[in-house]
Amino acid sequence: MEHVDTVIFGAGPAGLAAAGRLVGKGKSVIVVEKEALVGGISKTLEYKGYRFDLGGHRFFTKAKEVNELWDRTLGDDFIERPRLSRIYYRNRFFDYPVRIQNVLRNLGMVESALISFDYLRTKLMPHPEERTFEQWVSNRFGRRLFNHFFKSYTEKLWGIPCSEIQAEWAAQRIKGLSFTSAIRSALFPDKTGKIKTLIDKFRYPKLGPGMMYERMADDIRKAGGTILPETAVMQVHHENGTVRSVVVRDRNGSEREISADRFISSMPITELVTALSPAAPEHVLEASRGLTYRSFITASVILDTERSFPDTWIYVHSPEVRLGRIQNFKAWSPYMVADPSKTALGLEYFCTEGDDLWTMDDQDLLSLAMRELEAIGLGKAPQFVDGFVARVPKAYPVYDAAYPERLRVVREYLSTFRNLQPVGRYGMFKYNNMDHSILTGLLAAENVLGANHDIWEINADQEYHEEHKN
Ligand SMILES: Cc1cc2nc3c(=O)[nH]c(=O)nc-3n(C[C@H](O)[C@H](O)[C@H](O)COP(=O)(O)OP(=O)(O)OC[C@H]3O[C@@H](n4cnc5c(N)ncnc54)[C@H](O)[C@@H]3O)c2cc1C
Repeated sequence: MEHVDTVIFGAGPAGLAAAGRLVGKGKSVIVVEKEALVGGISKTLEYKGYRFDLGGHRFFTKAKEVNELWDRTLGDDFIERPRLSRIYYRNRFFDYPVRIQNVLRNLGMVESALISFDYLRTKLMPHPEERTFEQWVSNRFGRRLFNHFFKSYTEKLWGIPCSEIQAEWAAQRIKGLSFTSAIRSALFPDKTGKIKTLIDKFRYPKLGPGMMYERMADDIRKAGGTILPETAVMQVHHENGTVRSVVVRDRNGSEREISADRFISSMPITELVTALSPAAPEHVLEASRGLTYRSFITASVILDTERSFPDTWIYVHSPEVRLGRIQNFKAWSPYMVADPSKTALGLEYFCTEGDDLWTMDDQDLLSLAMRELEAIGLGKAPQFVDGFVARVPKAYPVYDAAYPERLRVVREYLSTFRNLQPVGRYGMFKYNNMDHSILTGLLAAENVLGANHDIWEINADQEYHEEHKN
């Protein structure tokens, strides 16, 4: 049986960061990747010379080591982009981040007065609990503004009512934003430019995020590491609290076993649990089965028009269409669009694996997407030239009421293995951005090299000035 120092499950940002750090220190590493392309959710798909991001991936971080890694990897192939993103709601565009003057203009004086009145009432009589997303947001913005700006999109994204989504998600993602801070920034704009810079500009690889991770993979190979594409982790063998080996299967169905001293896993934590052999105890399997994910589909379309709208992306709050968000790739990077006389869009739907959207025929999905684009006035069905559908399973860990306890059970069990470290977004069931995923990979690699970091701490006490709306 082949033996290496470390086997890494998954070649997304977390797995590649770990592999890069380890090969740099002379360790032998195999990265096992189920898909043909590296980059995980941050990969970039190519279609007839056009490049499509799965979602849109801004590169921003407060972590010095991540910035250094990104700069070292990509150098001059990073571009800086201006950001324009708006919310589409009630047949109108609202600035995002929300600007109070713009809301007043779009909703009119009467509705704006009702929003302000409702906000003051909430301040006097806040909801006593802040357990759910609905309570958390309503306490900060008032219920009326919650209904306008948060409810429909959030429910499209999560597929469950806001009253069932945990406040933790809101606290993590819209921390620092409040009704008063929105008014304050409208009246007294930030003169330092510090926050503004993060919000109005961002960095992006010329050819999309995949360019970063393809380059990281090349560097790993050059340094002697091995990446096995189209190869999935099937079984993880263990005894006496130590993982011994992993059985992997390639695209032809042939299996092989690789042993190692250490294992780092960025595959979905729920799938890691079921791959364990001997099987995990029933209560762990049951807790793991209860951890759910939200998936997402992007109908990637090429339109015969030079410019459809200036935004980098648009949040579609309108409840009358199922479309959740639109990415405009030319605005992300002109290098992504092979023919400058065309426009390339990603029309995004949030769904659950196996539901009607997930199982819809590709042509039907493309037609639905074009119909909805036309319905909201951002494109015309006859402009459609070509397109394809990409399905992204398990894109969002669902923070429902039961998840903290279920994750605790799974995490506690996995921590009994002395040489197995879960990392990353899927891998830790954590709503990580790329930088946090990368940090977990780097710290896991340092642990292999002798450090003693608590990887679960990453993300908890770090915050962005960036509000985030994925
Ligand atoms: C729509 C959307 C927009 C986003 N926008 C941003 C953004 O603007 N900025 C930002 O910083 N982050 C953004 N993110 C988050 C970012 O995509 C993730 O944080 C990042 O990709 C997570 O990296 P990871 O390595 O932890 O996991 P992943 O990227 O999920 O990689 C895990 C890898 O494991 C592989 N794998 C799974 N199972 C197996 C198996 N059995 N065997 C072998 N391999 C397996 C998968 O194929 C995958 O390649 C966004 C996410 C989404 C969904």
